[in-house]
Amino acid sequence: MKQYDVIIIGAGAAGLSATGELVTRGKRVLALDMGNTPARKVAVSGGGKCNITNMAADVTRYFGENPNFVRGALSRIGPTDILQWCNRHKIKLYEKEPGRYFCTDGAGVVVDALIHDAMGADIKYNHAVESVTRHDDQFIVAANGTKFCANSVIVATGGTSFGTLGVSDVGYKIAKSFGHKIIPVRPALCAMATSMFGPDLAGISVPVEITVAREKIQDNLLFTHFGIGGPAVYRASVRDISNGITINLCPGADMFGALKNAKQKNGKRNISSILSEYLPVRIAKYFSNNDVRNIADWRDSEIRAIADRINKTQIQSSDIKLYNMQSAEIVRGGISTEHISSKTMESKLCPGLFFAGEVLDISGDLGGFNLHWAWASGRIAGRYA
Ligand SMILES: Cc1cc2nc3c(=O)[nH]c(=O)nc-3n(C[C@H](O)[C@H](O)[C@H](O)COP(=O)(O)OP(=O)(O)OC[C@H]3O[C@@H](n4cnc5c(N)ncnc54)[C@H](O)[C@@H]3O)c2cc1C
Repeated sequence: MKQYDVIIIGAGAAGLSATGELVTRGKRVLALDMGNTPARKVAVSGGGKCNITNMAADVTRYFGENPNFVRGALSRIGPTDILQWCNRHKIKLYEKEPGRYFCTDGAGVVVDALIHDAMGADIKYNHAVESVTRHDDQFIVAANGTKFCANSVIVATGGTSFGTLGVSDVGYKIAKSFGHKIIPVRPALCAMATSMFGPDLAGISVPVEITVAREKIQDNLLFTHFGIGGPAVYRASVRDISNGITINLCPGADMFGALKNAKQKNGKRNISSILSEYLPVRIAKYFSNNDVRNIADWRDSEIRAIADRINKTQIQSSDIKLYNMQSAEIVRGGISTEHISSKTMESKLCPGLFFAGEVLDISGDLGGFNLHWAWASGRIAGRYA
């Protein structure tokens, strides 16, 4: 059995970041991946342009039982470190929004740079790890009927969403076998199926404000044939939606005031034409329900009902289905950070066992925060393993 200093399970964003650090430290490293190419989620990230980091990366953009866990890694590997790394690898970046960086030449250059940094390590593809056991201070990693041996192991198996790229829950099983708690996973950064709007509005995109708990998210919402999607909904989906969400489809206007004003000043207009001053025509028609009465003939209570649907549609959690594990960018949940050191990423229950990336119960907001977490936690694990 070949002996390594460190075995990394998962050659994705976090695993390859850790590999690069370990190679720099002169360690004998083996990275095992179940797929036949490295970092497949990185390769498709950001619509192929890889939203690599975000200058706003701080604890407020992360979710899980203990988001404070990210502080240790983020204080040592910040967005500027990632920009410098890109600069070293001549990866050209552009800001789609202030502070939100994408790769001009596509995500492939990021994968190439990760592999370049990992040169010197053994990387074995098509090796699906089944288990990790510990014997006399050594870890035995079993994959494809072969056993590999190391002083330390880094589990970087990622999340279980977007299964077409090849994912597994083995990271959770390994953690559990060493006594770690697993927070049940659910889709996040995804659309929501709901009965609230029906399919008539499918394809329309509008700027909205979504209130989740006490937080207000301003971004675009896309109506779909099954419910709602788009960045505003993706961002809501990673948050705690157990008390439902409230959508303001026209954040710039008080619709009740606007309709009352029109009723007083221009009572002969129909409601659809008034609404279409504020919203796309199809949405205006949808909410007016083809009612062609003059606005003057509408009771205030009827106006109030329409205005409230536009300014504050409440969707109960029972009418929201996160849609779905196959298409979600990430999961919420994973290995609890409770028994893991935020300074080193090492297990407090089993010395020598480390975790990094999305396999942990750390979920980032839309905007490059998940990859940033993978880079930061991977590098830290690689420094201490
Ligand atoms: C479509 C899409 C777009 C995204 N876009 C962005 C974006 O632009 N910006 C951003 O910040 N985030 C984005 N994300 C999220 C981001 O890609 C992930 O959060 C990040 O890749 C997680 O890194 P990781 O190393 O923890 O896991 P991964 O990158 O998923 O790597 C895990 C690796 O572990 C391997 N593995 C799993 N199980 C086993 C096993 N049993 N044996 C061996 N190997 C195993 C997998 O094959 C994989 O290579 C996107 C995700 C998706 C799906």
